[in-house]
Amino acid sequence: MYVRHLTRLAQLTTLGIGGVADAVVEFGEARAFDQVVEFVRGRGGRPVTLGGGSNVLAADDGCRQPVVRVRTRGLRVRDAPDGGGVLITAEAGHPLQELVDTTVAECLTGMETLTGIPGTVGATPVQNVGAYGQEVGDTLTEVQAWDWAANRAVTFDAAACRLGHRSSMFKGSSRWTILRVTFRLTRSKLSRPMDYGMVTEALGVAPGTRVPLAEAAQAVLAVRRAKGMILDPGDPDSRSAGSVFLSPAVDAARAAALRSRGASVHDFPDGSTRVSASWLIRESGFVLNQPLAPGIRVSGKQFTLVAEGAATARAFAEAAAIVAARVERRTGVTLRPELDLFGTEPVYQRLRDRGSGRNGAENRRCCQNF
Ligand SMILES: Cc1cc2nc3c(=O)[nH]c(=O)nc-3n(C[C@H](O)[C@H](O)[C@H](O)COP(=O)(O)OP(=O)(O)OC[C@H]3O[C@@H](n4cnc5c(N)ncnc54)[C@H](O)[C@@H]3O)c2cc1C
Repeated sequence: MYVRHLTRLAQLTTLGIGGVADAVVEFGEARAFDQVVEFVRGRGGRPVTLGGGSNVLAADDGCRQPVVRVRTRGLRVRDAPDGGGVLITAEAGHPLQELVDTTVAECLTGMETLTGIPGTVGATPVQNVGAYGQEVGDTLTEVQAWDWAANRAVTFDAAACRLGHRSSMFKGSSRWTILRVTFRLTRSKLSRPMDYGMVTEALGVAPGTRVPLAEAAQAVLAVRRAKGMILDPGDPDSRSAGSVFLSPAVDAARAAALRSRGASVHDFPDGSTRVSASWLIRESGFVLNQPLAPGIRVSGKQFTLVAEGAATARAFAEAAAIVAARVERRTGVTLRPELDLFGTEPVYQRLRDRGSGRNGAENRRCCQNF
């Protein structure tokens, strides 16, 4: 275990935004977690857990609670005892990209389109991470965590995690630090059927086609790179948190109308049909590279927000509020934040208050808990 005092959260987040945290407690060995618990207990209250910092907007005034940064690594791969595929248990700090690479190399299908998503495995159940037709909920079987309210280790099966579209019971709560995650994958050299237009176009195959795992992953990476959705220090558009907003759910009539206008509309495992937030942002008249607030602009490749220079959380939240307000005015659709708002900034309220839907409520809770 390693404690860093007075550390800028900007150094620990992909947006490069965030004030000073009083204490950041890092641990790279599972057996050191007892010391982490002791340290946090000594400070009273609950910590905030951080992985790769790729889905958070950290407040300019930083954080007084201890920040627990999970850096453990390791994979355990074995045949499922019931004969149903292969189980992989990953330590929470293991990079998601390395897990996906392992599944592709081992001819295990179920995670190949999650390639290119930054961050740690431990964060994946938090918002049921997903992309291009797959999400963690398709393969997740078990989460082992520390419960800071009950002060004990707990294990949840997939149903107990209450996974939804980019949501779960973990999202917006500081109650649990996830320590280990187990997935069940299927042995196959072929991917799941490829359904996303941009990916099937890159592959040159018809929707529904299964392709070799490595080809599926390469096609997804190419699509992501073109959209600036890969972290690349040489890319000025990669100071980002990915999608700032959730793709909003639409009813069948609206989905049909949007599809007829060329919108990117997809069905999700939770039964919802959703329109891409970036398509709505483009339709609302924003243009690539458009400055929105000091240090914040629309990406040069995709309709999401990126930071540059001395960007602040306040400016980012203001920019997001400007985008959401115009989208609502022009399209009647409410955008809610996907990224987690860490800490308190008065302008966060404008984002939290958008609509009264479930995700809005979750994000409000998230902010109160920090
Ligand atoms: C360029 C880019 C592209 C992206 N593309 C996608 C995408 O396609 N699909 C997608 O779903 N997301 C995407 N994201 C968002 C992000 O990468 C994922 O949400 C990822 O899972 C976050 O992992 P992290 O380790 O960085 O988590 P962090 O950003 O550190 O934390 C995110 C949340 O999870 C919590 N958390 C983190 N680790 C733990 C833990 N061990 N226990 C309990 N809580 C924890 C934090 O408290 C926080 O609330 C993208 C981000 C970027 C920058």
